[in-house]
Amino acid sequence: MNTYYCHNCAVVNGTLRPPPKGEGLTDNSYKLDKYIKHTLPSSSSDYKTVFTGVASESYQNYIVSAVASGHVQVDSQNRINIVLVGSETTGIALQGGRFIGDMSAVKVVYHSDSNKIHGYPIAVTELKSAICVQCGRTIPY
Ligand SMILES: [Zn+2]
Repeated sequence: MNTYYCHNCAVVNGTLRPPPKGEGLTDNSYKLDKYIKHTLPSSSSDYKTVFTGVASESYQNYIVSAVASGHVQVDSQNRINIVLVGSETTGIALQGGRFIGDMSAVKVVYHSDSNKIHGYPIAVTELKSAICVQCGRTIPY
């Protein structure tokens, strides 16, 4: 069960702290691994999504944009995730190295854990409509 906060309430609550930048997004093996996974297309058989654009710039920009304008999802393990629905393509999904679809949203996970924070493109169809628990506003998708 996830709990949702709209962007405005998350700002009021002080939840949306600035994310690490530059090398701060890849300064341990966990974050580096996620960065490579979600910026470099590969023929790996697993489903994965990859940001489009220049890897280092787009990765940081999407994470910064998500924190700057996204809404907050607190998951059942109390992890703070941030979702930004973009107006443009954010990335692509690959399975077995083959293109299977365009993604137009971004999810930043482990926002409150600077050792694990990372982001990846997701499909808008993965999102459900939600109500902000604090102000009751519908969070639009
Ligand atoms: Zn709200």
